[in-house]
This record gives sequence, C-alpha cells and structure tokens, in this order.
Amino acid sequence: MASTAPYDALVAQINDVLCAINLLEWDARTQMPAAGAAARGHQVATLTGIARNMATGDAMSAALDEAQEALATAPAEDPRRRAVQQAADGIAVLRRIPERLVVEAADLRTRAQTAWVKARAADDFAGFAPLLERTVAIQREWAEAIGYAEHPYDALVGQYEPGMTLSVLRDLYARLRAGLRPLLERALAAPQPEASFLERSYPIEEQRRFGAMIAERFGYSFSRGRLDDTAHPFEISMARDDVRITGRFRETYLPGGLFAVWHEAGHGLYEQNVDPALGRTIATTDLVNLYAVGGASFGTHESQSRLLENRLGRSHRFWQLHFPELQAVFPEQLADVDPDGFWRAVNRARPDLIRVEADELTYDFHIMLRTEIEAALIAGDIAVADLPAAWAERMRDDLGLEVPTDSDGVLQDVHWSAGMIGSFPTYTIGNVMSAQFFAAARRQADVESGLAQGDYQPLRRWLNENVHRFGRSRTPAELLRAATGADLDPAQYLADLTAKVDRLVS
Ligand code: ZN
Repeated sequence: MASTAPYDALVAQINDVLCAINLLEWDARTQMPAAGAAARGHQVATLTGIARNMATGDAMSAALDEAQEALATAPAEDPRRRAVQQAADGIAVLRRIPERLVVEAADLRTRAQTAWVKARAADDFAGFAPLLERTVAIQREWAEAIGYAEHPYDALVGQYEPGMTLSVLRDLYARLRAGLRPLLERALAAPQPEASFLERSYPIEEQRRFGAMIAERFGYSFSRGRLDDTAHPFEISMARDDVRITGRFRETYLPGGLFAVWHEAGHGLYEQNVDPALGRTIATTDLVNLYAVGGASFGTHESQSRLLENRLGRSHRFWQLHFPELQAVFPEQLADVDPDGFWRAVNRARPDLIRVEADELTYDFHIMLRTEIEAALIAGDIAVADLPAAWAERMRDDLGLEVPTDSDGVLQDVHWSAGMIGSFPTYTIGNVMSAQFFAAARRQADVESGLAQGDYQPLRRWLNENVHRFGRSRTPAELLRAATGADLDPAQYLADLTAKVDRLVS
C-alpha cells in the first residue's frame, strides 16, 4: 500500500537540518566571535550539502514516487497532493543546477564577500570587479540551468518570487515611476520639516524597551521570540515557536533602531503565526533556496515587515496615539516636539545615495535602478566595468544625485557579493503588497476601529487568518488574490503615498 509517510519524514528531516543552519546563522550574526567565521562557514556548507543531498537523493525520489502514487486518486486541489507536487517542483529545480556550479558559487561567495568588504572600505571597485564578473557568469549559467521562457533574469527572480518575471516587473515599475515622480517633486518643493531633534541623545536601553513594547502590541510574541543586537537587522526562524528578531540602535539617531525593530517584528509575526500543522513540512521549507521559512516568497515576507514599519509605524494616526508614550520615555529630548512634528520628521522625503537610508518616496527608485542593471548584466547587455557609469547615470536621472564614490554607489549593497542577483525586486513587491493587504484588512470594521484606538489585535488576527497561517502552501499570487481579491497592483500603494504627501505639504 503506497504511503506518504516516507516523503513526510524526509521533508521533516530536511527542515530540521535547515532550521539548524538558521540557528548557526543567527549565532554568527549576533554572538559569535569574529574569529569563528571560517569554521562556521565550513559548518554551514556541510549542513547545506547534507540538505541538498537529502532533497536530490534516491531515497527522496522513491518517496516522492510513492507519495504521488498514494495520492493519485485524490482530487487535484487536495492540499497533500499540492504539497507533494510543490516538493517535486522544487527538487526538479535543484537537480537542474549542476553540482559543480553549486560548489563554485559557494566558494566564490566566500571570496567575493571578503573582497567586497575591502573594496567598499577602500572605494576600490576595480578590486571587486573580477569577482563580480565571475559571479555574473555563474548566475548566468545558473539561470540557463533553471530555464526560463523569456529572459534569463526570470529564472533568477523566480527563485525568490515564484512566478515573477522581468516583463511583469517592468509594467509594475512603469506605473510606479509615473506615480512616484510627481509625488516626490511635490514633497521636495514644500518646506522641509524640522528633524534635527531626531539626532539628540537617546539612551539605547530606553529605545530598545520602547521598540519592543510596540512590537509586542503589534502582536510579536517575546515568549516565542527574542530581540538581540546585530550589525544588519534580520529575522530568522528555528520553528514557529522560536522566531528571533534583531536590531541595531544608535544613540544619536532615534528612528533608525525603532523602525528596524518594527520591520523585523513584521517578519517575525509571519513566522510565529504559520499554522502549527505546517511545521516540518514543505509549507515551511524552501527547497530551491535550501532555507527553512514559512513565508510564501521573499516579497510576501517583506509585505508583512513593511506593513508594520510603514503602513502602521509611519502613519499619522500611529504618532497621534503613541507619541505621548515616546515623549514620556524621553521627556527632555522631546520636550519641544509634538505628534504632528514627529510624524513629519520621520516621513521627510530626501533623496539619498544609500538605499537603506531611503524614505518611502525614493526607496523604489533604488530598486528599479538595481533591477535594470542586474537584468542587463545577466543578459550581457552591459559589462561589469561599465557599472559605475551606468549607476551614476541612473542616480542622476532618477534622484538628481551625483555619486561621489563607488562606496556610495555600486559597492553599497551586500547582495551581489552573496550571489543574490534577482532578489532586489522583492523589496518593491513587498511595498506594493503591503498596501494591498493593509487596505483589505481595513475594509473590516473591527480592524479599522481597533487601529483608531491603538489596538492592533484585530489587524493581527486578519493577517493571521488571511496571510500568515498558510505558510508556503499558497503561491504569492494565490495568497494575494484570496486575501485582497486582486492581483499585484501598485494603485493602493500610490494612493497611500499620495495621501501622505497631501498631508506633508499642507
Ligand atoms: Zn525585511
């Protein structure tokens, strides 16, 4: 009698290995002495190899065949049948990428990251260029191995955002660009808000306590999570009952640490609320990236972090409600500030060379620039040597900025040195989706009345019910359509930003 048991057991074991890798990564980025990096790299590589072999080995092939046989008479929409098909599809992608390429990419990543750190510090693009050339060549081969219908970039972006293509992105970007440009111009033409008070001295322990308190009210559970310090904040999950977030606080810049904690809490909320029955299944296992995660895609995940960070944390209503609490924590520093002034300061539009410093009106321009450059690199339409010039030209056209050094330009992000070509668009997809999810939630009366009183539980319940609980069992497009009734569409995002600019300039 054919059974799904061997398949279920193997996926559970792969998930265990991947969760162990997550714990090693969390440790490496929060606790580990720097000297441990080389050994940790070997440990992660070994465990990743084990997970890959388990996924692509003969035992899994036999288990998949048996599971497909066991479910052959089940209806096509049976979730078990879909789950097995999803695993088979992921494994097919893994199998198409030759072992030699996997090994070379891993080895190159280690060397490229070291070279990138040095090159960025020394503003030495030429020192990084040979490794970037090799990275692009490998990613091009990677795309060919996976396969694509139209553009090699589709294969790469599809690893992070299943179903997404360059042509869909270009349509989305055209609408975004047309909507964002006049908004940015309006915001920049208006008198700029006073914001120097954000750079007064704010003791870090109090920042952390306030950030964590709000994160908890948003619904992030500290009994199933924790907040630690790191250089570049992230969220990582070892299981739905152990979902950790990290932050970085600076004494002389208040919003940096606060908004980062709320951002990561949005990621954490997603992972903590995946249906418990989906633990150790394909719905919490990304076989293509060999990563234990409960989010449907990188963009979907980002939609949840941006929702808390921007749709809630940067809203006028939020600061009307919570500024008095912040002021009670920092009475001297904020004595001469009011809720409206604080809201204006943390929403000020200011073109910046650095993506991670960008405000909501300029952020997506950074992503559009990177997407076009990545796609051109992968297609061979542009050479690595021409990147600094291409970057400078786009920054001038889009944001009116001159790029003084490559460290502030083409060398600023870690992604390319990590071989992650094709992941940038998921940030903008997350922005767009966050507005769609938030609007759909607010169409429900209890969510809206809760928000008006600073009660975030009705919103959390809506997100749990319509987004979080499904894990990876729905595709991003299915999830979005079921929750909002629409496909990916920037109209709501642009409407939210228009309302913000209307208030900012008034
Ligand atoms: Zn994020």
